[in-house]
Amino acid sequence: MLNSLFTGPVFEMARDQLLVIANHLSIPEDERDWLLYPKRAIVVTFPVRMEDNRTELFIGYRVQHHLALGPAKGGTRFAANIDIGEIAALAIWMSWKCALADLPFGGGKGGVAVDPRALKPKELENLSRRYMQEMIPFVGPRTDVMAPDMGTNEQVMAWFMDTYSMYQGVTVPEIVTGKPVGTGGTLGRREATGHGVAFLAFRALDALDIAPATATAIVQGFGNVGSHAAMGLAARGVKLIGVSDHSAAYYDPKGLDVKALVAHAGRTGELAGYSSQATIAPRMLLEQPCDVLAPCAVERVIDADLARRLRCRIIAEGANGPTTPEADRVLADRNDGIFVIPDILCNAGGVIVSYFEWVQDLQQYFWSRDEVMDRLERALDRSWAMVVARAKRDGVSNRTAAMAIGVERVVKAKQARGLFP
Ligand code: NAD
Repeated sequence: MLNSLFTGPVFEMARDQLLVIANHLSIPEDERDWLLYPKRAIVVTFPVRMEDNRTELFIGYRVQHHLALGPAKGGTRFAANIDIGEIAALAIWMSWKCALADLPFGGGKGGVAVDPRALKPKELENLSRRYMQEMIPFVGPRTDVMAPDMGTNEQVMAWFMDTYSMYQGVTVPEIVTGKPVGTGGTLGRREATGHGVAFLAFRALDALDIAPATATAIVQGFGNVGSHAAMGLAARGVKLIGVSDHSAAYYDPKGLDVKALVAHAGRTGELAGYSSQATIAPRMLLEQPCDVLAPCAVERVIDADLARRLRCRIIAEGANGPTTPEADRVLADRNDGIFVIPDILCNAGGVIVSYFEWVQDLQQYFWSRDEVMDRLERALDRSWAMVVARAKRDGVSNRTAAMAIGVERVVKAKQARGLFP
């Protein structure tokens, strides 16, 4: 039954990864399904009034993977081809990520199957509000706290918060994170994920004895995570030699102008049209030699075939699930030791600062940007040190080490709480 509900390549990936960890940690067979399958999965369909007065029906999801450590926490994705298996996998990864960062949350994720770029602004608002309205019985500041993900942003979070608040009759900023500053959002959340990706890439450069000012980077995806990762890397002198999004890919070994790329994407919403020079086939871009390769777009872009051809020193996983388990095995067999900063460590900056936002909202007491960033960097450093030490101690990959720490914490919490009744 469970096997037929949660299907698809992304869910299979989350399952395969957990199997590796379950074997590594010798988790009893009868506890494995309990760890893998979500506590709750909500599917809704809802109509939205479109600009031409038609009614269109959409399907939306929310998955709460486990609630053993606190409310579910995770983003909401608006993307054309999502399904319940993919959302469940993303919720599972959020569980290990929150636990690795020692946050009092379980993993959650949600989304609507829609291409947000195809919607008019008012249609996007109608869809966002109606999705949140459908979710009201299932979410809450102590139950499940949403955040932005692919295809959603601060404005969508403001609509979610307003819709939830209108139904409660009071303003409830702590229902979502990633809101605009001034409506309960925290300073530093917008750039948190990309900043964290760059921060940990510097830790990895340092570990490999590469000076940032001599290093090069290629970034796939130029939305919230990719653009801030590129800016963070460039701020310390790393040369951005390649970049891509859904619309275009550019490669120039002499270096690309990050500020101009950010300005162009800010103006037009995509990289296409930035330049007629230096274009490259998107997949070819990822094979070019560089020090830091930062996939910051979608899942499963580094497959076994690409893993054999990569010429980077470090993979900094800004996206969730960019590397398949088959690619992980290829990377482990390569004798040139590409240093992988796994997603649940590398992109944890977003959920760490979301946690800070939730805490500030609950207390109605807001911190300075310096305080947020200082706490963020200290949190990332703690996780980094634990993962690197664990990988060394157990002779395993960074991904296995990171996941082992996260999974272990969830298992301990479940065991301590026991079965009810
Ligand atoms: P976004 O919607 O802001 O940007 C997504 C970017 O990916 C866009 O530039 C888009 O053009 C590009 N893209 C889409 N398909 C692509 C393709 N096939 N090839 C190349 N580029 C493609 O989303 P985001 O918030 O930056 O999220 C990106 C990734 O980071 C996702 O995997 C998301 O789950 C993960 N993530 C996001 C956050 C966050 O705080 N936003 C936190 C942790 C992880």
